[in-house]
Amino acid sequence: MAQLDERIGEIYNEVLRRNPGEVEFHQAVREVLECLGPVLAKHPQFAHNKIVQRICEPERQIIFRVPWFDDQGNVQINRGFRVEFNSSLGPYKGGIRFHPSVYLGIIKFLGFEQIFKNSLTGMPIGGGKGGSDFDPKGKSDNEIMRFCQSFMTELYRHLGEYTDVPAGDIGVGGREIGYMFGQYKRITNRYESGVFTGKGLAWGGSLVRTEATGYGCTFFVREMLKSRKQSFEGKRCVVSGSGNVAIYTIEKIQQLGGKVVACSDSNGVIFDDNGLDLELIKRLKEVERRRIAEYASHHKQAKYLESGNIWDIPCDVAMPSATQNELNGKDAATLVKNGCIAVGEGANMPTTPDGIKIFLDAKIAYGPSKAANAGGVATSALEMQQNASRDSWSFEFTEAKLDQIMQGIHQSCYETAEEYGAPGNYVLGANIFGFIKVAHAMVAHGLI
Ligand code: NDP
Repeated sequence: MAQLDERIGEIYNEVLRRNPGEVEFHQAVREVLECLGPVLAKHPQFAHNKIVQRICEPERQIIFRVPWFDDQGNVQINRGFRVEFNSSLGPYKGGIRFHPSVYLGIIKFLGFEQIFKNSLTGMPIGGGKGGSDFDPKGKSDNEIMRFCQSFMTELYRHLGEYTDVPAGDIGVGGREIGYMFGQYKRITNRYESGVFTGKGLAWGGSLVRTEATGYGCTFFVREMLKSRKQSFEGKRCVVSGSGNVAIYTIEKIQQLGGKVVACSDSNGVIFDDNGLDLELIKRLKEVERRRIAEYASHHKQAKYLESGNIWDIPCDVAMPSATQNELNGKDAATLVKNGCIAVGEGANMPTTPDGIKIFLDAKIAYGPSKAANAGGVATSALEMQQNASRDSWSFEFTEAKLDQIMQGIHQSCYETAEEYGAPGNYVLGANIFGFIKVAHAMVAHGLI
């Protein structure tokens, strides 16, 4: 890990003291703080106003009980969270995650990352995140609906199109957003389209939102490759996960001429040297909600590697698109040894700090999540724009806007890294560029 200078080291120690046990939050904060030394030196007003200390403390944290009946009539109890981290640039904006691993530290890491990611998009959105330790796997449709309704019965009072605008994340897709939006509408008696993004197309959603994170991440990697006079054409790629982000990453890579040979879920890895059959994956995952292992029963040449490590598969481009800390130092070393030239993070914080160091030291093109996967939230902001103007844009128009935004984010990170003497370091570029805009807004708004 990089050293923190003395002043920033003290701030970090205070974050550790105030947020015990929240290791993912510590990790996310440390990665940003490691980049900020030269920024504070250049902008004394940020230190004077204690901007770094304030940015590490959420504006509001909401934790609540979510009781619901399962199909057998038993009472079940989960815990709900919404961390409204920073509203300097706009209403809190960030997804909702349903996964048994969710606790406050996960939601805080995601909310913290979201502040800088949203700033990078150039759109008027603040940072927040929410979720529950509810496990949607194996639940019936009715159970999912009852859970979402109970979750929203508490959360609705904290939301609003000018206040806090959630979207999906792991375990929360179009179905769950539908149930939550429906309950919000019922309780408030308001058809407030702009209170949720990721909505269905028939009721205020935007074309390209479903595809946006995966497409955007692939555009970002395309830009990194372009800056090195390379392209996706003929590249062998590996994409972890098989959820929303993974599926549309695979789709765009294939459209750009790359070949994706592997994807995964939390049980194992599918390896298909002929290139993945995306239509089959979409059917298995989006329609039938099955496990990725079943791919192998449809394609005899494909191998299912139970508990396999996807990063052991040699590739030119790696796109971690499942979850946090899924790619460690050993995996990063294996990828580099096998000739990987680019990594684009679709998932949030999928690479551990020692893995990041290996990528940076090897000087491969490494696109950190807060830059590379910002296309999802950027398209959410486009959905909010369409809702506000009672308009709906075509697929081509919306995708072109997404592409433009991703090119802009790439350029901002690239140029900032050069300005701060670390050419090619997108981690530094993303953290500094994202931070400075929020910091200026916080100074302008006074001590609040
Ligand atoms: P989905 O729920 O659609 O898919 C998640 C995928 O990751 C599944 O294949 C799942 O496998 C796998 N996965 C989840 N948790 C774990 C785990 N602990 N270990 C191994 N595999 C796991 O989620 P998304 O595709 O929406 O999200 C994936 C990542 O992208 C997350 O990090 C999310 O925060 C990030 N992201 C998502 C955005 C979006 O627009 N959806 C926007 C920006 C970032 P299994 O089914 O076995 O659990």
